[in-house]
Amino acid sequence: ASVDYPKEFKGFAVQTPSEWNKPKLTSYAPKTMGDHDVDIEIECCGVCASDLFTARAGWATNWDKKGSPQVVGHEIVGKVVAIGSKVTSVKLGERVGQGAQASSCLSCSRCNKDNEQYCPGMVGTYDSYYPDGYLSQGGYASHVRANEHFIFPIPQGIKSSEAAPLMCGGLTVFSPLKRNGCKPGAKVGIIGIGGLGHMAIMIAKALMTDDNNKFDGEIYAFSRTFSKKQHALEMGATHFIATAEKNWHVPLFDKFDVIINCASSVQSLDINAFLSTLGVEKKFVTVGLPDEHEKYDVSPKSFFKNGSYLSSACLGSREEALELLQLAVKHNIKPWVEEIPLSEAGCHSAMSRCWDGDCRYRFTLTKFNEFFNT
Ligand code: NDP
Ligand code: ZN
Ligand code: ZN
Repeated sequence: ASVDYPKEFKGFAVQTPSEWNKPKLTSYAPKTMGDHDVDIEIECCGVCASDLFTARAGWATNWDKKGSPQVVGHEIVGKVVAIGSKVTSVKLGERVGQGAQASSCLSCSRCNKDNEQYCPGMVGTYDSYYPDGYLSQGGYASHVRANEHFIFPIPQGIKSSEAAPLMCGGLTVFSPLKRNGCKPGAKVGIIGIGGLGHMAIMIAKALMTDDNNKFDGEIYAFSRTFSKKQHALEMGATHFIATAEKNWHVPLFDKFDVIINCASSVQSLDINAFLSTLGVEKKFVTVGLPDEHEKYDVSPKSFFKNGSYLSSACLGSREEALELLQLAVKHNIKPWVEEIPLSEAGCHSAMSRCWDGDCRYRFTLTKFNEFFNT
């Protein structure tokens, strides 16, 4: 470890929204070390579209208002290099992961029911304020510090660069699939075959496979065009629909138990058509979060015809993260990753290409130890 550690972390920080894809190498003080905090020396970090929305200030972000540089990245894998005095769940030297959450109150009614991602005191891995006013900083960095509750041991047999995308993207689709009846026999729709969507297909397939290793059910991949068809079928989709085709929804009347929408924009999303494909009282769950100004265009009559629900979901709980990692080992779930070595140019390329949709299907920034000499 470097001599400055742990006084200063180093990371690639976005300076201003107009320079969203050109983060610069910066040093900064970590948050104050808490009794339950853990420091991770980062080995690699996935690039989630949320990093881009935050960097571009397309959402109502905190960092741009404060005018302080922001390190994004919340699909982190690395090694534990320091622990607070009360930490019990991880050991020094252990390989661990962290997703999009760094802290919560851990004592409210939601935290007590494995819904800590919905805690009013939720602190995100970046762009969130701790109670003392510290603005959290993410994983395109040498180190990250977070509460042990949000740090997960990575089982042997999963490669770090493939474990990283499970930490945010994988967990975010696993949780609503699991909570909404994705099991053997189910009929599931996945919209938007990007980072989250491609993991959703593989995770749905695993959830719909029984103890005798028999898959039962239907997984529909919905994409704007046919370009990802072959890939989606390889990932485990049983059907593929290009939503640019007219009247695609008509034969799918009353089909789905749940639809998970992973698209990062509602621009070409015909939500009324999707609702018509749900069974009675079934759910359309959006995990995709577009720019703040984008709105749904949906008529109450669309819900009235099948009593369907329009819903959303945020991340997943610690319990679900641990469960997902076990599922990934059991079913050999491997995100389709393109590795990009960490550097200023590497961050620039990964962020730009992800925004342009030029990604099959997740970038993981790698070789952090080489770059930071850790
Ligand atoms: P990607 O860019 O990897 O994938 C997004 C997919 O959305 C694309 O592959 C594309 O699918 C579809 N899409 C892109 N542009 C449009 C458009 N203009 N109109 C309709 N569909 C479009 O992003 P991620 O998978 O990393 O993230 C997806 C979304 O999920 C983001 O909004 C992200 O912020 C959000 N997110 C939310 C979380 C939560 O807790 N709820 C956690 C993590 C991420 P196709 O080519 O198949 O049409
Ligand atoms: Zn994310
Ligand atoms: Zn709480």
